[in-house]
Amino acid sequence: MPQPTVVWAYRRTGKFAFHVLTGALEAAADTRDVPVVFANGVDRVVAAIDAPLAGGGPVLVGWSFYSPDAAQMIAELAAVRRSVDDPRVVHLVGGVHASAEPEQTLRAGFDLVAVGEGERLIQEAVRILRDGRPLCDLPGVVSLAADGAVRRNPRAERLTLDEFPPFGPDHGRYGPIEITRGCVYACRFCQTPFFAGASFRHRSVENVRRWARFLVGRGFRDFRFLTPTSLSYGATGPEPDLAAVEALLAGVREDIGEGRRLWFGTFPSEVRPEHVTPAALQLVRRYASNRALILGGQSGSDRVLAKSRRGHDAATVERAAALCVEHGFVPHVDFLFGMPGEEAADVDATFALMDRLVGRGAKVHGHTFLPLPGTPFRRAAPGALTAERRRQLRALASRGQLYGQWEQQERTAQELARGRAAP
Ligand code: SF4
Repeated sequence: MPQPTVVWAYRRTGKFAFHVLTGALEAAADTRDVPVVFANGVDRVVAAIDAPLAGGGPVLVGWSFYSPDAAQMIAELAAVRRSVDDPRVVHLVGGVHASAEPEQTLRAGFDLVAVGEGERLIQEAVRILRDGRPLCDLPGVVSLAADGAVRRNPRAERLTLDEFPPFGPDHGRYGPIEITRGCVYACRFCQTPFFAGASFRHRSVENVRRWARFLVGRGFRDFRFLTPTSLSYGATGPEPDLAAVEALLAGVREDIGEGRRLWFGTFPSEVRPEHVTPAALQLVRRYASNRALILGGQSGSDRVLAKSRRGHDAATVERAAALCVEHGFVPHVDFLFGMPGEEAADVDATFALMDRLVGRGAKVHGHTFLPLPGTPFRRAAPGALTAERRRQLRALASRGQLYGQWEQQERTAQELARGRAAP
């Protein structure tokens, strides 16, 4: 069989996942040389498939997206198939949405769904294609048999982050360094624990530093981490391990020097409010460059917070924001509007808390609740706001006190609810 070609359907929605998977291919001696094409948009995907097919194929087209983008990506797959539909081309889809809804995703037109993390799976997929064996034997994939029955292969074992680079260094495809995967919390609206596991797996300090030094060598000036909860670095459970956080931050700071920027507890990650203590803030201030912190608040109602299993109350959010201000940080507090079971009094409590927070100098990062596949809340009503609440939020935004995609997410929530699979 000729060498397979890997084509990433390289939309913004799955960009960093493709960088990680490219790094995984680079990490093994027998997959390092496989051609990888980053093809953004239908025409480029078609062109990227055509070239290797002319040389004999096969072609593995990789897709990855989040639930809000599923409809668009399914439409793009259909458009690609209209231009090129050849048995030597396999459309493999991974990511949280496909992992949560494999059957629906397969019936939407994909050949195979990769459930869970993809680093080992993509290496193995290339080996199987090279050997001319059927990809439906791959561990961790779900496929449709000829009679339409769903075939689920057992998932591969969870990996350790140090085994793989955090991005695709040889291809010059970079991203934030993932320091922690999985989450011990079980917030009922969140896809992370289901997708990446309900325990923390941390990249070692030595390994993070190695990749930070690599990025310094490539001229990077900003260094960001990817983690579900920043102050949980090194922890095994809910209690932070500040010694581990300090070892990480001090080590990376030493490697990158004082002239470069180190971001911690900010995009694309955040901090849980109960982890915010004077000691933690002093540590972040000492080593990190950011003077804003993103706090997960979600609601001002203790009832709604308890129902969503957030593991903290509203007073903790307020206390964390006050501590941030005291220590010279601007708190950016995430809120989720329209959470399941929310009643008028709960909404009042959320808006009152937001008012108190912005009065102290905080900013609100507004989201609308999405009933995401794979989560305990997947069948809940989509998040919705009244006209009056929308007006209040727009007023906050016009004063620069609120930002976020909450309006667009209100529409997306409706689409998700319409498109979800039957129970
Ligand atoms: S919302 Fe954050 S803390 Fe909660 S389960 Fe998801 S990643 Fe973990």
